[in-house]
Amino acid sequence: MTQFLFPPRPQPSLPLHGRAERFPVARIFCVGRNYADHAAEMGNQVDRSAPFYFTKSPHHLAQSGDTVPYPPGTADYHHEVELVVAIGRPAFRIPRHDALGAVTGYAVGLDMTRRDLQALSKEKRQPWDTGKDVEGSAIVGALASPAGFDPNGPSELTLHVNGDLRQRGRLKDMVWRVDEIVAHLSTLYHLEPGDLIFTGTPAGVGPVAPGDRLEGRVAGLPALVAEIGPPS
Ligand code: MN
Repeated sequence: MTQFLFPPRPQPSLPLHGRAERFPVARIFCVGRNYADHAAEMGNQVDRSAPFYFTKSPHHLAQSGDTVPYPPGTADYHHEVELVVAIGRPAFRIPRHDALGAVTGYAVGLDMTRRDLQALSKEKRQPWDTGKDVEGSAIVGALASPAGFDPNGPSELTLHVNGDLRQRGRLKDMVWRVDEIVAHLSTLYHLEPGDLIFTGTPAGVGPVAPGDRLEGRVAGLPALVAEIGPPS
């Protein structure tokens, strides 16, 4: 039996809607600029040649119902509500027409972002890690079965903060559809059960403050609620 120098961190995981088992989370991939209206509000154009990605540590996962700390090093912590895709089968160079078969669930997620640090990184042509890979910044709701759910259908994706509507988009307005994302990402990585993919956010991103209550919704999926706690 392996002896560790200190106890390893617990396995990050998410609840599965209507089931007792939990989904063990491996890697967290995120797609950038996947809704034209959000790319425009950030002063960017959509790159239609290929999707691009950044990652978050699975140890930065939080789940619905959690209070997540307001992180250090920022004065502009932003919400980005997104559809999250959970991989349940190995996928490497998977054809687009098979790609959704590798998906075992969908959830509502929040890709929380230190926008001021991300902006500085962009300006200096540095990586986005400190802006994006933030402790407690990958907030994901319960995973629902893919049966009967169309990840690029007309369903609305919304975020309310303290009851006020802040973000509203439609899944069908993704620049890169979920099947295209899974197929493309599988040319770069050997996707494995446990991997999560955040699929990008529509327009309306903005700052949060300690005490704010966030509610993300997609029709057909369990709602995601989270509260912003005091500065950590
Ligand atoms: Mn995002």
